[in-house]
Order: sequence, then structure tokens, then C-alpha cells
Amino acid sequence: MTKLTTSQEIRLASRPKGLPTVANFTLAESTLPPLQAQQVLVRNLFMSVDPYMRGRMNEGKSYVPPFAIGQALEGGAIGEVVESRAPEFKPGDVVTSRYGWREAFVAAPKDLRAVDKAIQPFSVYLGAVGMTGMTAWAGLTLGEVKAGEVIFISGAAGAVGNVAGQLAKLRGCRVIGSAGSTEKVQSLLDECGFDAAFNYKSGPTLEQLNRAAPDGIDVYFDNVGGESLEAALSVLRVHGRIIACGGISSYNDEKPKPGPANLFNVTTKRLTMKGLIVGDWLDRQDEFEKEVGGYLRAGKLKSKETVVEGIDHAVDAFLGLFAGKNMGKMIVKLS
Ligand code: NDP
Repeated sequence: MTKLTTSQEIRLASRPKGLPTVANFTLAESTLPPLQAQQVLVRNLFMSVDPYMRGRMNEGKSYVPPFAIGQALEGGAIGEVVESRAPEFKPGDVVTSRYGWREAFVAAPKDLRAVDKAIQPFSVYLGAVGMTGMTAWAGLTLGEVKAGEVIFISGAAGAVGNVAGQLAKLRGCRVIGSAGSTEKVQSLLDECGFDAAFNYKSGPTLEQLNRAAPDGIDVYFDNVGGESLEAALSVLRVHGRIIACGGISSYNDEKPKPGPANLFNVTTKRLTMKGLIVGDWLDRQDEFEKEVGGYLRAGKLKSKETVVEGIDHAVDAFLGLFAGKNMGKMIVKLS
């Protein structure tokens, strides 16, 4: 095999205004540094594209620092160790890292995490048993979701949403999902076990949610914000809970939109809204992997993914998130 000395990577060329375009990114080649003691060379197999990356493309710190212009982007990846000068890893080990958006990289052992090679395809470590699956699990745990409750999940056909729905079913809930196409709705019903699902693009969310949950909902798992949040505020029962996970409907807004017109429902119905950041849950990663990995191995949880091939298509995959091009986790296959 030829020696791995270069890596193609995606760099941020300029900060997007509104919806990003391909012009905001460049594909470039970098030379890999010679391996030093206590370093590991990894070839990425798969990388993740995620909606939160949009926030990191803006100027200014949010809960994570912004990407730097002219530098390679970062994000979840899973790769294979090619060469190691650290005792913790050997060639052939499969590791997760934050060094996505590139074909290969050199890192210290502390920046790598070995995975169980028995669970395949390895892309599930970016989805159902990775960051997005953990977000779903953490959200349901944070929201104290219990058997017998009715839960509504927006963005239900996406990476977080479809796992949240399947886990809520396993906990004994009645699960309602919304997604952006008839095909996605059908898949939620037929493959993911949702009790009801609707296409939010085919009519007002509030009307469709009222039809799916005539007696109201106990919990709203919010991936979208906007109209979905407003509908949920109307349909939630007294003492209902909102798991505030994401707000993709506003990530590309150039000016902030006004909040939900019916926010006063929080008071009248004594609602609780809890914000979720998955990074706060890392100390429970083993517990999550044991439970959700177990469901996956037992065939109780389906791992849904949409795979795009090649680093040269990574930007398209990222932009596709905002056009609803993915069912399940959007993954880029690199080698
Ligand atoms: P998804 O796999 O759900 O991909 C994004 C999906 O969002 C698209 O497929 C599309 O589906 C939907 N979408 C895009 N634009 C809109 C819009 N304007 N209105 C409604 N839906 C839209 O992504 P993830 O599962 O990775 O993430 C889901 C949410 O969870 C995001 O908001 C993300 O930021 C958040 N998140 C939060 C974390 C945390 O720690 N709090 C961690 C991980 C994710 P459709 O066809 O249905 O429109």
C-alpha cells in the first residue's frame, strides 16, 4: 500500500450569510506531518455532517467556538489507525474523533476513542450509537419520559428524531412525529414504529398535531422550533414538558424571528422547558452505549442513514440537511 502522506480536507472559505452555499467552502490538500512519538495516524472511514455546524460557521462564540476561516472544519468522524507511535493504539484499531471533514490526520491518543469493532457498519458510531443517538437518549432522560405518555417529536425522520421516537416506543410511549415528506412519514410509520406521523409541509402543523393527538401531548421533543414549537405549546397538557434540543427552522435566519406568540401557555399550563446540550452528558456515555448498543444488537432499534460518498461531496451532504435530503443520519463515506 502507498504511504499516506497527504489528505484532502474541507476548509471554511467565508462565513455564510443565511443559507450556506458551496462558495463558502474550499476543498484543499494538506501534507500530513511525519509521525512523532505519542502520535497516531488515522485514515477516516466516515465523517458526520450536522446542523449544529451551521452555528460554528458564524462569527462569535456560541456554546462552541466558531470555525476559523481558511482552516479545515471539524466534526465527528470514525477512522482506522494506519500507523501508531503510541502504545494505546495499533494499526487496524477503529477510532472516533473530532477530526472530520478530512481524509486522514495525525493526533494524540487522548483525542481518539477506540470502538467495539463487533458493531457494524462503523457509521453507526456517528448516528444511533454516536452523538445523535446519545442526544436522543439524553433528551428522553432529561425529559423524564415515562411509559403511557404521549410524545411529539419534530424533525422525526432525522438522526436525533428517529432514534428518539424508537427509544420512546421502547419506553412504552405513544409516539407522534412530523417530517418533511410523504416518504419520510411512511418510513416513520412502517419502519420506526411511530404511532402517528404527518408531513408538516402539507398543512398547518397545529391542525395536523391536533388530529394526531386529540387529547393532547405530555412531552414535546423539539428539533425544529418555529411553527412546530408554537403548535406544541398549544397542544401540551397541563404540567407538560418540552425538551429543547434544536431549532433548525431558524439556523439560517439573518435576523432573529419573534418567539412563539403563545408562550404564555408556559404559565397557564405550568409547562417545563429544559435545554439540552449533549456534551453535558459525556460522563454517561458508557451507560448510553450499553443500553442503545444493546437495542441495536438485539434488533430492537433500527439504524437509519443516508450515505453520500467522497470528501468532494461532503459540502453537498451538509447543505442537504437544510433541504431535508436525509432520512436518518446524514453520513459521508470517505474510504
Ligand atoms: P437531522 O438528521 O434531523 O437533519 C436535519 C433535518 O431537519 C432535515 O432532514 C430536515 O428534515 C429538517 N429541516 C431542515 N430545515 C427545516 C426547517 N426549516 N423546518 C423544519 N425542519 C427542517 O439533524 P439531527 O438529527 O442531527 O439534528 C436535529 C436537531 O437536533 C437539530 O436542530 C440539531 O441542531 C439538534 N441537535 C442538538 C443537539 C444538542 O446537544 N442539543 C445535538 C445534536 C443535534 P425534513 O425533511 O423533516 O424537513
